[in-house]
Amino acid sequence: MIRQAVDASNHGQISELGQRVLDGGQISREEALRLFNLESSADIHDLLAWANRIREKFKGNKIHLCSIVNAKAGACSENCSFCAQSSFYQTGSPKYGFVDPEPIAEAAEEANRNGITAVGLVAAWKGLNEGPMLDEICDRIREMKAAGQTRPDVSLGIIKSQRVADRLKEAGVECYGHNLESSRRFFPQTCTTHTFEDRLQTISHLKQAGIKICSGGIIGMGETREDRCDLAFELRAIGANVVPVNILNPIPGTPFAKNDPLPVLEILKTIACFRFILPRQEIMVAGGRTVNLRDAQSMIFMAGASALMVGNYLTTLNQPVEKDLQMLKDLGLDPHWDNHGFSDQEAGATLA
Ligand code: SF4
Repeated sequence: MIRQAVDASNHGQISELGQRVLDGGQISREEALRLFNLESSADIHDLLAWANRIREKFKGNKIHLCSIVNAKAGACSENCSFCAQSSFYQTGSPKYGFVDPEPIAEAAEEANRNGITAVGLVAAWKGLNEGPMLDEICDRIREMKAAGQTRPDVSLGIIKSQRVADRLKEAGVECYGHNLESSRRFFPQTCTTHTFEDRLQTISHLKQAGIKICSGGIIGMGETREDRCDLAFELRAIGANVVPVNILNPIPGTPFAKNDPLPVLEILKTIACFRFILPRQEIMVAGGRTVNLRDAQSMIFMAGASALMVGNYLTTLNQPVEKDLQMLKDLGLDPHWDNHGFSDQEAGATLA
């Protein structure tokens, strides 16, 4: 007897939940967990087809492209177990202080040539206080803003004072990258030098300042499906606007160096589940894409991704931007982002 390709009860549930999200409804944690626990490839492909419809409904065929520039590298005081830039581990990753204006201007120009919406300045340190470094960063942001080529985003770690967030906003920051990394439960296994609450507090200051939130996490660190599900619900609760999904690229010398890679279908299923939970948000596939997904990279859009980190990552390489642009063209997707209505994405947010 031939086994049914799609489990009829799963098929019915996926369709019911997919239709509810398409109609503007939400799914519960328990319902989402059932999706995270789908096992057969036929069911997962069924899920992807619905995630694709949800992406099309809320995002059309526009894909938001971001790139990053490592404005200060290595020697970080924190012990994040996935990170090549932590001073706790011997990784051979580059180390340098805050860069001069030229490399930042060059990164913005290159991004502009490739039609990339935003360039994020990323710094490897615990966080930012008031002082000369904040002044310098604000100068770089104003310069990028004045050049008018790309949106200057930043990812500068933990912010402990409202004044710092307000000054970044005044300088022209529209969107700040600050991942929750994983669920509240799993977070202590990723880092012990700061807490999940520190990260939520930072997000609260940023929101208070009127800055959009780019916050997601990393999968493949040893977390469970339940942890991934809870991360997505935390992100829904904080009202993240852009949700980066990074896939661990194990770095020799870090505690996660020997982690087994996640199966490709598990990665695609996770992206699809995020799309069901976060239908209006920008879901961006970021670090670890090329190494973990290989020939299946283009399937991330069918899984519901609406944004892509292009160019090289902080410490690892990505495929050339031209190849990504060709992939989008081949799929009938349009990299000319039209803002995707940031305000819509805040529906359901509960954190002030
Ligand atoms: S993830 Fe950020 S805070 Fe953590 S070690 Fe790396 S650079 Fe430092």
